[in-house]
Amino acid sequence: MGLWGLLLTAPLAAVPAYDFPERRPFAGERWLNPYEGWRGGFLKVNLHAHSAAWLGVTAGEAAPEAMAQRYAEFGFDALALSNYHQVTTLEAPPLPMVRAYEHGLNVTKSHRLVLGATEVVAFDFPISTRSMRQWLLDLLGARAALVGLNHPSLRGGHGCADVERLTGFHLIEVHNPYATSHLEWDCALAAGRLAWVVGNDDSHSTREQGIGIAWNMVGAAAPAEGAILEALGRGRSYAVRGERGRMDVHVTEVVQDAPGHFRVELDAPARVEWIVDGTVRQVDEGVASARFLAPDTGGHFVRAVVRTPITELLLNPFVRQGAWTPPVATIDWPVTVAGWLAWLAAAFLTALLARRARPRLRLVGRDQAA
Ligand SMILES: [Zn+2]
Repeated sequence: MGLWGLLLTAPLAAVPAYDFPERRPFAGERWLNPYEGWRGGFLKVNLHAHSAAWLGVTAGEAAPEAMAQRYAEFGFDALALSNYHQVTTLEAPPLPMVRAYEHGLNVTKSHRLVLGATEVVAFDFPISTRSMRQWLLDLLGARAALVGLNHPSLRGGHGCADVERLTGFHLIEVHNPYATSHLEWDCALAAGRLAWVVGNDDSHSTREQGIGIAWNMVGAAAPAEGAILEALGRGRSYAVRGERGRMDVHVTEVVQDAPGHFRVELDAPARVEWIVDGTVRQVDEGVASARFLAPDTGGHFVRAVVRTPITELLLNPFVRQGAWTPPVATIDWPVTVAGWLAWLAAAFLTALLARRARPRLRLVGRDQAA
């Protein structure tokens, strides 16, 4: 296949081949309510924004300090500056910061949000197979608290075929000004991939119109990284699409009164949509308290969406529990080793052919010189 062929296929051969578990819808008699028992209020947090970085090569325009200052002015309780492949820290941040970076240097916009990062994974594949994407998720997850998929619908970065098979992502960015990804979230949930919702403004400057388009309300006990990540990891948060940081309805409580009896309490009347397995099943208009009774049979996840003319709140799902275990993609060793051996054999053959071809090339050179 030649030297170039060998070089190009090296990453493909080096990365293990994965065995992706089939769709495993949430199942069981009980329902998990991620907000169970929480009455502590919610903090306003943006988890995806860019400041100037990498000598201006990336799109961020403002200094990290200026970005953080802007979010503080917009009433945010905490912020993650998620520059590409770099954890940005401030000496005296004007608001609490979450250590984060965005991972993804590729043509398919397969970007990941890495939160609570202890170490940056610098490497990425320009084009990747699903096994490469899985390998990266596992690599990132081992060096951070949480990994999310950023704007999955953007250029098909992580489409339904991906989110139904990959594992090891904890969050999915449904609200992002460049792409909304309701479908991808429902695809993941329908396949039993328990990814909690996030929404972020992905701002690249301090300009007012870019900040506060989307964010998260996080049920954390304190505006500190540990508490915020703990709440996000449990799904005790909801995503907001608002207007310049403003929202005119808030969730105060999400309760399961009896098994499968759900109730959402709001601080103002709004339209509440109840979605079962990706389909709207009930709409309550102008209510500050909405109730829904989950179907006795069928129905693997139930989620609520709250709407007013200027606000949309995406609540995390209630999911069936008891007969469901989280799917985990594992390395398919026979296929992986066969791939390594095939590549080594090809490399050996290429070297052998090159050796036999070399003397002839020299002769041609000598003839030309003469
Ligand atoms: Zn991105």
